[in-house]
Amino acid sequence: MPKFCHDCGKTVKIEDAKFCNECGASFIEKTNEEIKTNKNELYIISKKEIKSEIEIEPSLNENMSPLSNKDLGNKLEAFTAEILEAEGWSVKKNEMRRLDSKFIAEWDIIATKKIKDKTLTKIVECKNYGNSVQREKIDAFIGKLSSFSEIKNPNPLFVSISFTDGARAQAVNKNITLWDKNDLIEKMFSIKIGRHGSQQKEIILPYALPLLIDYTKITNLELKNPDKVSVSRAKLFWRPFYTIKYSVNVTKSDPSGKSHTVKDDGICYVDAQDGTVLNLPTPKENDTLFDIFPTIKFKDSEEDLFLKELKHVPDHDYPIPTTDEYQSIKIDSKISKLIAKENAIGSIIYTNTKTFNYELKGKRKKNDDFDFELFPETRDFTIVPKKGDITIKETQIVHVPKWDIEFISGETIYRREVIGHKGTIIADPIGHCPQHKIIGLELFKKNTLAVCEIDGKALCKDHVFQCPSCKRWNCEDHSVKCSICGIHYCSEHITNKCSDCESLVCDECSLKCPICGRNHCKKHWVKCDKCNDEVCISCTTTKTSMLVFKKYICKKCQT
Ligand SMILES: [Zn+2]
Ligand SMILES: [Zn+2]
Ligand SMILES: [Zn+2]
Ligand SMILES: [Zn+2]
Ligand SMILES: [Zn+2]
Ligand SMILES: [Zn+2]
Ligand SMILES: [Zn+2]
Ligand SMILES: [Zn+2]
Repeated sequence: MPKFCHDCGKTVKIEDAKFCNECGASFIEKTNEEIKTNKNELYIISKKEIKSEIEIEPSLNENMSPLSNKDLGNKLEAFTAEILEAEGWSVKKNEMRRLDSKFIAEWDIIATKKIKDKTLTKIVECKNYGNSVQREKIDAFIGKLSSFSEIKNPNPLFVSISFTDGARAQAVNKNITLWDKNDLIEKMFSIKIGRHGSQQKEIILPYALPLLIDYTKITNLELKNPDKVSVSRAKLFWRPFYTIKYSVNVTKSDPSGKSHTVKDDGICYVDAQDGTVLNLPTPKENDTLFDIFPTIKFKDSEEDLFLKELKHVPDHDYPIPTTDEYQSIKIDSKISKLIAKENAIGSIIYTNTKTFNYELKGKRKKNDDFDFELFPETRDFTIVPKKGDITIKETQIVHVPKWDIEFISGETIYRREVIGHKGTIIADPIGHCPQHKIIGLELFKKNTLAVCEIDGKALCKDHVFQCPSCKRWNCEDHSVKCSICGIHYCSEHITNKCSDCESLVCDECSLKCPICGRNHCKKHWVKCDKCNDEVCISCTTTKTSMLVFKKYICKKCQT
């Protein structure tokens, strides 16, 4: 076992550690196939060695104050650089580089890391727009990257506070890694834990959605050549959420004496890292009539994915599974119960503010021509529940497991983010071919079949091909297509060139002419009408008989 981490270079304190406590890098050089076949063996090891690798959080005085969105927004670039350095990248900030168009562009961060014989590169955009990043920003980043061919296989990373649905979909499609506010918090947290060294202790969570997607499942790749992809980092974060059970019951009489009731029972979910109410509308700050251009808050689509899983019933007193296969990190709630409740109450009041109509007595409109009895004059009567009308029945902190896996394929990094309870996918770019356009929000996803064994890109059956000679998989750029049968070969395995048309042809589709001894493609062979031998077209003369058909006579038969 290494004394130093190959990834970040920090010392490894635990003997036989399977991953780095500093950066989470995996020390097991196992490919996917091996993970599958070694499952039973690993299981025995983990049973025998019950030592837990779960981290205990550092004491609170260690500079772990909650990061506000504003703090994060101002320091996005600095935080990102710090995290990348801790993960073993050498970081260059505000790099001025020439684009293909000869214009000079600034890149927020360019980070490089050497892994064995490969150099991986990350090109990073850190932007805070004070709102969720929309798809246009992702497209603009893609555009900028496509005009920068100096770096061959860049791994783009976009860092911001939150992202919309459209932005996330496009990023997955183009394999752009996104780091949002929660990712930054989790990454900073695991770095800080690393600095404290690890304390091994079993953790019991009062409430948690149990981990149903295990390490074998989460690292599984539905590819023809999974052995070409390795798991470089595996982390399981336990994210905290408040679930607040409430009921509202208000009955009030309008001025006409009729009584109205507002009744509601439900659960309000609050993110325990930043206090965001996930499932109820939040009262807007400047909601005035004169707001012609109201600030529309774009929702981060990741919240909805967590909500979907949070609807399931959590386990009580749940022990975090102990393992030595990956790093398991419990995230502390940064929002107190009191603040969570207050945020929830604000949303519950907003949701349950209801307006009723009542008739003004004796004020029915009279008209000579029409009877307006059907349209009595009405007034609005609004019920705004008060804090006292809301009963909070129960407040729990529920931890939800979230997988954060990093695969390396060639020089390409693929990040897989999946909620570990029911398996809701947050992002999984290795599963979908990037060479298909997304129209609007609709994803015409094509499942990947294999990775190109030269550049590591995961592609679908239309974009990756197995060489019939050596069985290796290659993308369009790294293979050569036979001009006759259309089968893709790697460049070493297609060497026949037709001496007439110069196109490359496979062995099946080429013939060495017995007369001139040169290779020819199928289009340029003919059968001699006298001797029936197959020869190249240049070694024949044609005779047009009185019938419609041409006759080919080879050079041998002419003599
Ligand atoms: Zn490390
Ligand atoms: Zn494709
Ligand atoms: Zn080949
Ligand atoms: Zn390729
Ligand atoms: Zn062929
Ligand atoms: Zn030819
Ligand atoms: Zn010939
Ligand atoms: Zn002949």
